[in-house]
Formats: sequence, structure tokens, C-alpha cells
Amino acid sequence: MHFLVTNDDGVTAPGLLALTQEIRKLGKVTVVAPDKNWSASGHVKTMNRPLRVKEVLLEDGSRAFASDGAPSDCVALPLLGLLGEKVDFVVSGINPNANLGHDVTYSGTVTAAMEGTISNIPSIAISLDAPEYHNGPLDYRAAAQVARVVAEKVIENRMPSNVLLNVNVPYLPFEEIKGFRVTRQGLRVYRDELVRREDPRGHPYYWIGGDAPLGVPEEGTDVGALSSGFVSITPISMDLTAYDCLKHFESWNIGK
Ligand code: MN
Repeated sequence: MHFLVTNDDGVTAPGLLALTQEIRKLGKVTVVAPDKNWSASGHVKTMNRPLRVKEVLLEDGSRAFASDGAPSDCVALPLLGLLGEKVDFVVSGINPNANLGHDVTYSGTVTAAMEGTISNIPSIAISLDAPEYHNGPLDYRAAAQVARVVAEKVIENRMPSNVLLNVNVPYLPFEEIKGFRVTRQGLRVYRDELVRREDPRGHPYYWIGGDAPLGVPEEGTDVGALSSGFVSITPISMDLTAYDCLKHFESWNIGK
């Protein structure tokens, strides 16, 4: 089995290395990752400029490819033939922060997996719920192990088409994780604030600032599972149709 490993934090990110080393236990791994941080870049298809790919070495001396494209481009390129061989599985991560609720629409980690799903390749996204004010290097070992376990389950049981798995891991040693929960998307509470500043020439510029988002830890949701020490596995459908609203909009009887 040939795994494509990517992320949205860039090819030098420690979460990518931890994930790559663990997934190697399951088969051949090729890493194609962005050459810079694309966190919160959403689902991108670069069409207005060329994409460059260069060979680089990961910190363990193994070969990888770095692209100036977005995370989803880093999946599209190999699926379109960049490597000259077929990819069987896409694993994206390990993101240092959780991707919960509405985050999935912003997340480069999740949208990289979406790119695999669109091509009907089993795809999973892995994120670690690191504490907000963590100092020093993060320990990705438990999240990497979780990624391997979930990938093994996908291989054993098959992945439904049009669906990816968004996996979020609590920041705990593997033995202390309570278990795995299949969840739905919970509710994020964003605390974004507009920060207006002035450049040295007197022109205003803006940051989207504010504190990190919170979540509503409701039972059955991704936020809820993490907050009680479980791994959250949310099946995400590429069909975004609001089925429960179809009748409502049909009742509008818009013209012909
Ligand atoms: Mn990221």
C-alpha cells in the first residue's frame, strides 16, 4: 500500500515527521507537503500560476517533496501523476491544533484530505488538541499512533465513497487516552477580533486577532469527545447539501 502523507503546516513541521515515521509501519510512504505554513487556508486549487516541486530531506534524512502549492495542491499533484505511481491512501497531519466544528472549512489539514476523497482515495486528517499555551516541542507520539490505528481500521473495513475521517486526538499519552468515539461536528465559538494598526507610512492594516476559539462540549460531538479524553473520529461528507432544508426551499415555489 502506497501512502501519501501531507500537512498544512509545511514540510519541516514536527507533526509531519512523526506521522510519516508511524505510517511507514503500514507500507510505502511518500511525503509531498507545502514549503510554507498554509494553516487556515481552506480548500485551494492553484490555477493562476505554475506549481514548483523540489526534493528535500526530512529531519530523519528521508526524502520528501516540497511544493509551493497549497495542501490540497500537494495531494492533487501526486494523484494526477507527479510520482509516476498510484497513491492508495492519503493521510494529512498531524496538525498541532484541533480541527473541530466549523474549523473543517478553514482547515488546510482537512481540505488536503478532501482532495483525496474527491479522487475516491481513502483519506484521513489528524489533528492534536495541544494546550493553547504550550511551551516547547509538542509530543506527537500518541497522535501518530492513533493515525496508524485509524488507517489500519480503514484498510480493514473500507471507506465509504465521498467521506473522509476527521480525527482529533486529546493531548494525552497513548495509554491515558480513554478510547475512540465516532462523533458529529460540534459547535465552535470563535472569538475573532479586528485589530487595526498603522504602518510606518500612516496607512492602516488589519489583523484578524482575538483569542483562540472555544467549543461547546456537547455529548456526541467532536468537542465533547476531546474534552472527556477520547479520540474523536468524525466522518465528513463531501456532500454539503442541507437535506433537512430541501422541503423548506421547495415550498418557496420560485417561478416555473
Ligand atoms: Mn496547521
